[in-house]
Order: sequence, then C-alpha cells, then structure tokens
Amino acid sequence: MSLETTLVLLKPDAIEKQIVGSVTSRFEAAGLRIRGVKMFRFEDALLREHYAHIADKPFFPEVQRFMQRSPVIALALEGENAVVRMRELLGPTDSKKASKGTIRGDFGVDVMVNVCHASDSADTAAVELKRFFKDGELF
Ligand code: ADP
Repeated sequence: MSLETTLVLLKPDAIEKQIVGSVTSRFEAAGLRIRGVKMFRFEDALLREHYAHIADKPFFPEVQRFMQRSPVIALALEGENAVVRMRELLGPTDSKKASKGTIRGDFGVDVMVNVCHASDSADTAAVELKRFFKDGELF
C-alpha cells in the first residue's frame, strides 16, 4: 500500500449534467481525501499538452471541441493506492463498456463523453498535478 495523490478532471459533461456532487461523493465515500480543487476553461495549449498522447489521432479535434465546450474542474485526491483505485471507480474509457456501479457506467455516454479524466500511473499523476496546481494550492 502506498499513500498517493491522483489528478482527476471532471469533464464538461459532468458540469453540464450537474453531477459534480454525485461523482465527488463517490470519491469521498471511497476514502479519498480532497487536497485541491480548481475550475477553469481549457486553453488550446494546455489541452494539447494534457492530451499529447492522442493529439495526432483523427478523433482529437472532436475531443478538443468537447473538452472546451464548458469549463472543467480539476481535483487532487489522496488515498492509499489512489491512482489505481480511481481508475477502478471510473471504469474503462468507453462508457458503453463500463459496468453499472462505475462512474462511467452510470453517468457516461460513450468513449469520448466519459465524465472524468484520471491519471493512469503514479508518474503521470506527479506530472499532471504540477500541470494543474501550483505550489501552495494543494492541502
Ligand atoms: P483515458 O481518459 O481513459 O485515460 P485515453 O487517454 O486513451 O483514455 O483518451 C483520452 C480521452 O480521449 C478519453 O478519456 C476520451 O474522452 C477521448 N477518447 C479516447 N478514445 C477515443 C475515441 N476512440 N474516440 C473519441 N474520443 C476518444
């Protein structure tokens, strides 16, 4: 077991459907502690940096339109094995393949409109936390 902090983004669909509380309550019920929260609208450069691994995919322009159509909320969440546990709480990328009881299975629409982003490894989490939170913004 290791105490980790992971980075979650509540995507535009979560903001629009007003399920931020429902989703966040699942994180807290799982014992994950909120260390930081921030709401913002994605600028082109930050989105491209965050999604560098899919920036050359044909579906990227659609992802960009989706991610910029409403603000997003970044959360830093701490707990034992937080990175893997958060990915389990979300379910797989494609909401249609996600089991009921997972966040994407219950609230997601498809492979793109899938409620949340979460860091996929401890190394990625360290980079992503720095991307969205400055020193002094995590508690
Ligand atoms: P994850 O967010 O589960 O780590 P990826 O890093 O592979 O998944 O993809 C980043 C995001 O890009 C996904 O969460 C989703 O919003 C979008 N996406 C991934 N694959 C597709 C696809 N085939 N078509 C449309 N959007 C996609």
